[in-house]
Amino acid sequence: MQNKQNRRAFIANTGKAALATGISLTILPSMASSFVGFAPNPFSQQALPYAYNALEPIIDTLTMEIHFSKHAATYAKNLADACTAEKVDINNSKPEDVLRNISKYSPKMRNNCGGHYNHELFWQCMGPAAGAKPEGKLAAAIDQSFGSFDAFKTQFTDAGKNRFGSGWAWLVLNADKKLVIGSTPNQDNPLMDLSDLKGSPILGLDVWEHAYYLKYQNKRPDYINAWWNVVNWRFVEKRFEGA
Ligand code: MN
Repeated sequence: MQNKQNRRAFIANTGKAALATGISLTILPSMASSFVGFAPNPFSQQALPYAYNALEPIIDTLTMEIHFSKHAATYAKNLADACTAEKVDINNSKPEDVLRNISKYSPKMRNNCGGHYNHELFWQCMGPAAGAKPEGKLAAAIDQSFGSFDAFKTQFTDAGKNRFGSGWAWLVLNADKKLVIGSTPNQDNPLMDLSDLKGSPILGLDVWEHAYYLKYQNKRPDYINAWWNVVNWRFVEKRFEGA
């Protein structure tokens, strides 16, 4: 009796195991593309999260297409070359790890790891049907740090307007967990060990001419004022809460 039960239990469990194996073999290939092993490498360019024309009329389609498929794609390609040449293990590290130690790498790595990271963040900081205002904890922190949302916008806009030549305007959370506005030249960013502005980037704005010249020509302030209408505050809030 005892043996029969054991035998029955054994058969039942074996059946379950076989079934489980069958299921996992059936499910795994379709799951694999979106999970471990097939996750997109953060050193390579990710798909743009919206269509080239999605941010019209603020960011025109041609600017978006050239910016993503030429400028940003080139940073990603040059970053891949630099990683090979400078022996960065792209499967076991992140661009952030390289940026935090950027003084140990070449100018090519600095320009292209910065360029790649900055653009990947920039695309996500924008979105169709975005705009409006930050909410929740980020809204409260902005009010506390800058007085009001409008005062924050003015200070951030000035950081972008006053960056001489090419660069970026940033909202960062610094080591003291304070929100700070600043800017960096070229493709530098606040994660770099040699940056004057330091902290976790929460929101970034590209003020290189390639980001706006086709539509706004020399009028960078007009570009920045319009850009507020495509900021994806839901994404920025998540970055703030995760920083
Ligand atoms: Mn750019």
